[in-house]
Amino acid sequence: MPIYEYRCPRCDVFEVVRAMGAAPGVDACPTCGEPARRRFTAPHLARTGTAAFQLIDATHRSASEPQVVSGPLPSAGAPRTQPFSSNPLHRKLPRP
Ligand SMILES: [Zn+2]
Repeated sequence: MPIYEYRCPRCDVFEVVRAMGAAPGVDACPTCGEPARRRFTAPHLARTGTAAFQLIDATHRSASEPQVVSGPLPSAGAPRTQPFSSNPLHRKLPRP
C-alpha cells in the first residue's frame, strides 16, 4: 500500500498508509486532531522493498484481506485414524 504524507498546520508532516486511492485530501492529525492537507510527493519506492515495509503492508492487508487457510493448523498434529467408538457393532451402521 502506498504511503501518503499530510502536513499539519500545528505540528509537522506525518505519514499514513492507506489503500490506493483511499486517502482523502484532508485528514485529522494523529497528534493534535487538526485537519491536515495531503502533500503530493514523489513515491517512496526505495522503502517498498524493505522487510519493515513488507511487514507493515502485510499487517494492513490482513485487516481487509485475510489469508485463506487451505489445510489443518500445524499444531493440530496427525489426523485421527482411530474410530470414535470402540464398539464393533457401530461399524455396521450405515455411513453417509
Ligand atoms: Zn497536528
